Amino acid sequence: MSDTILETKGLTRRFGGLVAVDNVDMVMRPGELVGLIGPNGAGKSTFFNCLTGFYPPSEGEVRFMDKPITGLKPYQVAKLGIGRTFQNLRIMPNMTVFDNVSIGAIGSLGHSLRRAIWPFECARDREVSERTWEILSRVGLDSLGAELAANLSYGKRKYLEIARALSTDPELLILDEPAAGLNEQETGELAEFIQTLNAEGLPILLVEHDMGLVMGICHRVMVLALGKKIADDTPQAIQKDPAVLEAYLGG
Ligand code: ADP
Ligand code: MG
Repeated sequence: MSDTILETKGLTRRFGGLVAVDNVDMVMRPGELVGLIGPNGAGKSTFFNCLTGFYPPSEGEVRFMDKPITGLKPYQVAKLGIGRTFQNLRIMPNMTVFDNVSIGAIGSLGHSLRRAIWPFECARDREVSERTWEILSRVGLDSLGAELAANLSYGKRKYLEIARALSTDPELLILDEPAAGLNEQETGELAEFIQTLNAEGLPILLVEHDMGLVMGICHRVMVLALGKKIADDTPQAIQKDPAVLEAYLGG
């Protein structure tokens, strides 16, 4: 087995004259929980979007489990095994919690598109249904399966978003600012949940604004500033890194 889950080489993304992601090299190994931090506008979301096919990179390469995935479409990347959440939640408010998750499970279990468009029919399918309940119970939403997603609290919607990412049975999970908008207690619970998922063997790349969360749970932290990777080290070392302090204070 390869010792690299995800790798970028010279990853660059420009928007007109702005270099949002500038020549970034990174590696993630199996089982790792890696944090990606950086001041607002550092390029974190753009980097994620390049990894997951939402933006084609301007230059450079992305490899996932030893396969080049540069320039693939989001659904292709998802199918290969990268699950992600979005900074702005993409839940479907007028569908139930169950259907929000079963749609992903349908795709990953190889059901046809027609059935993917008809979640109510699919809900009868035992495999999809079992898998969906399993994921809902993992994120603590099994008692709310029949509820409309719109009726969930903000904190619970965050878990629904993670459940959707898990529904495709990913080999790598990428979380974009999952703690944004959560209070301290909720953030603590989320930290525990992320650690549990990771301890079960799922590699996780966590982009986060909340330093306490990142420093508390990540094995390794990468720092972006103005699109460039300026540090990549243990949380302990990152917190003492002069370039990192400068990027935050000077930014
Ligand atoms: P972060 O997630 O670290 O806050 P972003 O990746 O969202 O940073 O943004 C990095 C830079 O790229 C910012 O200057 C932002 O304004 C710019 N940017 C991001 N997305 C776009 C886009 N779709 N079009 C133009 N500029 C963008
Ligand atoms: Mg962002």
